[in-house]
Amino acid sequence: MIKPIIYHFFLLYLVISLFPIRIGAFPNITILPTTRIFYSFPLIFNLFYDLQISYYCNNVFIVNPLWYNLYHGVILVKKRLLQIYNRLYSEFGPQNWWPADSPFEVIIGAILTQSTSWKNVEKAVQNMKKKGLMTPEALYKAEEQSLAEIIRPSGYYNMKAKKLKAFVNFLFNRFSGDLDEMFKTPTALLRKELLSIYGIGEETADSILLYAGNLPVFVVDAYTRRIFSRLGFFGEETTYGQIQRLFMDNLPPDPCLFNEYHALIVALGKDYCRKTKPNCSGCPLRSGNLF
Ligand code: SF4
Repeated sequence: MIKPIIYHFFLLYLVISLFPIRIGAFPNITILPTTRIFYSFPLIFNLFYDLQISYYCNNVFIVNPLWYNLYHGVILVKKRLLQIYNRLYSEFGPQNWWPADSPFEVIIGAILTQSTSWKNVEKAVQNMKKKGLMTPEALYKAEEQSLAEIIRPSGYYNMKAKKLKAFVNFLFNRFSGDLDEMFKTPTALLRKELLSIYGIGEETADSILLYAGNLPVFVVDAYTRRIFSRLGFFGEETTYGQIQRLFMDNLPPDPCLFNEYHALIVALGKDYCRKTKPNCSGCPLRSGNLF
């Protein structure tokens, strides 16, 4: 009795698998029939497959509950995203982001890193530390012109000094200089407020929320766009918000996972998925038979 049911279910699934599916919210994503046939096996044995959508973070093994897996409609995308994460994590290991001594330093770094390498940011951060400027109070009192000289190694130093002052002025005017108070604001509202500050765009605002506030907000950068468009998740013209929703709608809202995932994407982008001449033959995603 049970065998014909499984047989017919399987047959039906194979027939459905012949047609590409477009996912409503992400018109650029098409799950190809071959991919779906491949995934249909584990879907039938969903219980066993649950192990594949679990992940490591901070060396803790996290298993998603079954209800979570069943609840989320776009189950294939979610599993694929976590498979990629697991492959990258096993290849590169924990990345321990963000390299900073305090949430305030994370915010400074997030602003200074715009359009420059992290090496240059480190020099500017060290200069600020030497001058005792790595606290909200000290930065609030600092003169914009002298601050610009101090952060000169980060490039675009006049503009960045203006941005740092704009942020710290916001922090004092709105939260009396108290970062903990700032992060108590509902995340969506705080994001909106951060975006209204001079020099803070989406990537910077989200880096602040995730890496300084430990809030479950996914950071999208050029590496994310490049790698996941090459993997066929979306087209080049997809907006920041659409890419972010792809991750946030399909991954558990875990700041640890989002933190590590973004850092691993950067590692892959730097070491393998370079802008020109990507090293596909050595890429861990390819060697992991994920694509
Ligand atoms: S390096 Fe090649 S195989 Fe790896 S993600 Fe980039 S395009 Fe894909």
